[in-house]
Amino acid sequence: MNYIGIDLGGINTAAALVSEEGEILQTRSVPTPRTPEGVADAIAAHVKALSEGADELAPCIGIGAPGSLDTERGVIEYWSNLNFHEVPLAEMVRSRTGLDAVMENDANCAALGEYVAGAGKGSRSLIVITLGTGIGGGAVLNGRLATGLNGGGLEVGHMVIEHGGRPCTCGRRGCFETYCSATALIREARKAMAEDPASRMWALAGSPEKLNGKLVFDAAGEGDAAATRVLEEFLDYLGSGVTSLINVFQPEVFCIGGGLAGAGERIMAPVRETVQREAYARDSRQQTRVLRALLGNDAGLIGAAMLPRYRI
Ligand SMILES: [Zn+2]
Repeated sequence: MNYIGIDLGGINTAAALVSEEGEILQTRSVPTPRTPEGVADAIAAHVKALSEGADELAPCIGIGAPGSLDTERGVIEYWSNLNFHEVPLAEMVRSRTGLDAVMENDANCAALGEYVAGAGKGSRSLIVITLGTGIGGGAVLNGRLATGLNGGGLEVGHMVIEHGGRPCTCGRRGCFETYCSATALIREARKAMAEDPASRMWALAGSPEKLNGKLVFDAAGEGDAAATRVLEEFLDYLGSGVTSLINVFQPEVFCIGGGLAGAGERIMAPVRETVQREAYARDSRQQTRVLRALLGNDAGLIGAAMLPRYRI
């Protein structure tokens, strides 16, 4: 059986034909149309093209979508990016393709993708966090995708990690993502760079605006004091947040993705050390494995394709 997954994004609408094992057989992508009808048409065109190369096609496709969703009705309630309100996307796709469609938050799809074919393959439960503009999260627990009331993923980014700390866009203070998103790391590093004219970050980036996460890791790797201080604080909060999530969920695998995960062991090793030192179950025989996400952007597509198997 082959499955079709759709990844609806603000810029592109991608689709993949996926095997039973979660392997991508074929992909397609088009710029996301600006109207609901255009989006439904684009998805229908993807389905038509991919079904021609398919063996036996599952009678239901999966759609990973942003915004606030009513996953039971298959409706995008609100998506600020394209100003969509109450779009019955699943029904629109059904009427165009004759196939059922299920929809899920894109962070949940990414988690399911890593569970089926990535870092969590073979495990029973995993948590995925993605360090990007904010911090996204998703969970598969005992083989089932864990979904929230409003189609949300785990809003781990808005777990308070420093009571009364940095202000967050959500209105609270001290949220995880104000300390550990890529945005937060770069913001703090730019401040440190501006205050230290001798920092290596000037030589590497040229100007604060050009500084990115990788260059902060590079400068710290070269022994730069300002970058090291910022990175140590970042890793300290990250290790603490990851440990708390492990204490809550006790997953078999804890997976870290997003652009910053590209720093590899420079980010994974310190987080693992904190978990080994501080996790509640640190003396237990079975330990959560803390791994880097393996699939990158493919995770969302694979997870969307697998939705009919894991959600219904
Ligand atoms: Zn927040």
